[in-house]
Amino acid sequence: MEERPHDRTAGRLGWLAVPLALCVLAALFALPRLERFYLIRSGHAAEATLRLAVEGLNGALRRYEPLPGLLGERPILKALLAHPDDSALRDRVNEELRRTAFDLNASDVYVMDRTGLTLAASSYRKELSFVGRNFGYRPYFLEAMKGGLGRFFALGTTSGERGYFYAAPVRDGERIAGVVAVKFTVDGFESAWQGGAADILVTDLDGIVFMSSRPDWHFRTLAPLSDAVLARIRETRQYPVDQMRPLENSRARLDDTLSLLTIGTGEEAESFVTSATTLEAAGWRVSILTPAAPALHQALTTLAAVGAAVLLIGLAATIVVQRRARILERLADQRAQQELLERRVAERTEDLRHEIEERKAAEHRLRTTQKQLVQAGKLAALGQMSAALSHEINQPLAAVKSYAENAATFLDRDRPDDARENVSRISQMADRMAAISGNLRNFARRPQESIGPVPADAVIDDTFGLMAAQIRKAGAVVEIVRPERPVWVMGGRLRLQQVMVNLVSNALDAMEGMEAPRIEIAVVETGGGARIAVRDHGPGLPEALIEQVFDPFFTTKRPGKGLGLGLSISFNIVEDFGGTLAARNHAGGGAEFTVDLRRAEAPGQPGDLAAE
Ligand code: ADP
Repeated sequence: MEERPHDRTAGRLGWLAVPLALCVLAALFALPRLERFYLIRSGHAAEATLRLAVEGLNGALRRYEPLPGLLGERPILKALLAHPDDSALRDRVNEELRRTAFDLNASDVYVMDRTGLTLAASSYRKELSFVGRNFGYRPYFLEAMKGGLGRFFALGTTSGERGYFYAAPVRDGERIAGVVAVKFTVDGFESAWQGGAADILVTDLDGIVFMSSRPDWHFRTLAPLSDAVLARIRETRQYPVDQMRPLENSRARLDDTLSLLTIGTGEEAESFVTSATTLEAAGWRVSILTPAAPALHQALTTLAAVGAAVLLIGLAATIVVQRRARILERLADQRAQQELLERRVAERTEDLRHEIEERKAAEHRLRTTQKQLVQAGKLAALGQMSAALSHEINQPLAAVKSYAENAATFLDRDRPDDARENVSRISQMADRMAAISGNLRNFARRPQESIGPVPADAVIDDTFGLMAAQIRKAGAVVEIVRPERPVWVMGGRLRLQQVMVNLVSNALDAMEGMEAPRIEIAVVETGGGARIAVRDHGPGLPEALIEQVFDPFFTTKRPGKGLGLGLSISFNIVEDFGGTLAARNHAGGGAEFTVDLRRAEAPGQPGDLAAE
């Protein structure tokens, strides 16, 4: 059954199934690795941002750190701490602190007495003024009261703003008279961090998020808090305890510095690549969180690009393979056609060979038949000749008989001379009869195949010797024109003689009953050899029948007279010699038959004559 084209296409695309399945497997294998690669790359790329954020925070911390110590040196603060009830002095200090805060770009600068009560503050004019508030519970105050530098990060209990506090003692001689504190807020940093590609998160030592570019993470805890820590926070009022909810998170290591951090659970879970660095000065941990989703996206895009490339290469390969297959198919078709053609040629050659063999066999049969016919023709001619022959032989026989009787009588009468003459006449008659019988024997003999040089004149003479009786009986005159020098032609002497006998016989038959029958025989040399022409003065050949006279068994003679074989046999004989026999009507009346024969070299010796 013939294969349908799309089946074939499907068959050719079929080989793609295995590579495609391998590609899908490879993609499934590569995807997590590729994602991890992009995660790590994005994580490391974010490290620069992290360094910038840390630098910013460190810069601020370093800038504010020495300020309370310097402010504590101011005499006016000591004066106020010495005379806390001096309202004029307090007003001055308030105003001075307000300017200082403005100059330092600090959110608050304030002075507390030894109990933590705020005597003067830069925010004295504001509604939520620090003046009159007691911060004795804050660690930075307690630290400063011990003579050290107090530092603390907390949500402002008065302002509600997150800020970093630095505090230093105000000494009056050896005694610590009070504490001066400077607070700066961190909102500015956060707003700078917002809008970036990554989120930044600052946790304290307890894992509480106190700064973040994401406000909803403020005061969330990354790790469970111990009771002691919670109690301390409550005591120092560092963070609003009611806002401190845990922030669900899990962590997986990516490399030495990076890890994959998942925040939230279920549908709301968000994944980040994170790296962190510790801010030694404050004991903070600053983390940068780069969303992990784009890495997966990038990995998928890369895989898609690789997949598309593989697909394209696969398609190109398919096209090439298909084209190759088509070319091979076409070549196979061509080969099949060629084979078919060759087979046909071989068959045809075989047919032709058969035909040739058959034709050869037919030719062979024909030749055999012709030979038989030649023989039959000769016998027929013999039959025709027999009447004349019997006359030819009977006449000398009768003469021999009477000469013999006469010779006997002459001997009786003792006339030996007359008797001798009669005997010699008998001998002559015997010679004549021997000649006739010799010719007849020659005629009847089956000729051999060979051809060779034959003298044209001699053949004419032979014919005459053979036909003398018939010619004489017909009362015909034969005129012979001979060539100037002997002409030798290719042929067989007896066969050529047979042809001539035939032509002369036909000429005599054509002129039967005519007053003065005449035959003209001419032997002329031609370019290629010699021509023997036999012309009679009979009625000639009917024009319409000229073509047919050479056909076997074509005869116009009455039954018993002609067989219609003479000319056809003659024609074949002449053709065997490489010559031609032609018939036409002579312009002067009568028929003319011409025998054209090829020239032959005269043999050097008489023995070279073609013998038959
Ligand atoms: P056949 O002599 O037995 O008839 P041929 O083949 O010799 O056979 O001759 C065929 C015929 O050709 C003759 O019957 C005759 O009609 C014609 N033919 C041959 N020679 C002559 C001629 N010289 N003149 C007129 N017709 C001739």
